[in-house]
Amino acid sequence: MRITRCAATLAAFGLVLTGCASEAGQQAEEAAENTAEVQEDVQFEAGTTMAELNKAGAVTVGTKFDQPGFGLLNPSGDPEGFDVEIAKIIAAELGIDAENIEFVETVSANREPFIQNGQVDFVVATYTINDTRKQVVDFAGPYYEAGQDIMVAKGNPEGIEGPDDLAGKTVCSVEGSTPAEKIRTEYPEAQLVTYDVYSKCADDLKNGNVMAVTTDNVILTGLVAGSPDDFELVGNPFTEEPYGVGLAKGDDEFRTFINDVLEKSFDDGSWAEAWDRTAGAISGTEAPEPPAINRY
Ligand code: GLU
Repeated sequence: MRITRCAATLAAFGLVLTGCASEAGQQAEEAAENTAEVQEDVQFEAGTTMAELNKAGAVTVGTKFDQPGFGLLNPSGDPEGFDVEIAKIIAAELGIDAENIEFVETVSANREPFIQNGQVDFVVATYTINDTRKQVVDFAGPYYEAGQDIMVAKGNPEGIEGPDDLAGKTVCSVEGSTPAEKIRTEYPEAQLVTYDVYSKCADDLKNGNVMAVTTDNVILTGLVAGSPDDFELVGNPFTEEPYGVGLAKGDDEFRTFINDVLEKSFDDGSWAEAWDRTAGAISGTEAPEPPAINRY
């Protein structure tokens, strides 16, 4: 926020260069921590989830803990990544500071039950919006469009260029994920191995226990970035995976609120900034055009 103000001051007056440069350095440090500007005096209609969370001053969010760029525990035990930043942006608009977000690990298979049981207030966890899941939870978003891809050992010794090449080969994915379901239903000749989290698939590929790992391209990009000598991405996405913020089914006011927050973050640049210092920094890619929110 202050970066913008500084830039605006410069544009308007063409001065205070030195002050702005040192301020920028300080902001870069802060950016690593949190950037979302916490709303101080927000009012919400009584009885809404927003009012409850704002009053509590705290929120519980489900995210991934082993996916570099989207949700990964850092050495201090705090999760970092694009999903984590999206959660901070939503919390800030609820008047909740990042330090009052309790991040809980949600793996692919337990996201719906965690939302249904009220163990989390919402989920931001590379969570594809689809009709099956919409039977039991609701989604705000999408806030990103990923696509299923394949990761192989460096040099691609098996010559895997797409999902058809997985026939007769071992491929690892995660239980409860859309990529595992895709392989099961549409590529049954592949020998699917599943775990609860993707880091275990990466270990298996490294050890030569499987020939490939399949999930969303952005998750695989994070894993390749962590082990560039061991892995490579096939780079041929074959599904659409629109990422949504999962929340309790029927909480339409909360869904509308989160959709409004996401749209605001698309417009004010905070979404792109969040991308740049997380997934974008890992992949070396600029923030794409934000997707269109689907207010179903
Ligand atoms: N986006 C896919 C899904 O929601 C794969 C990533 C994941 O397992 O979190 O299932």
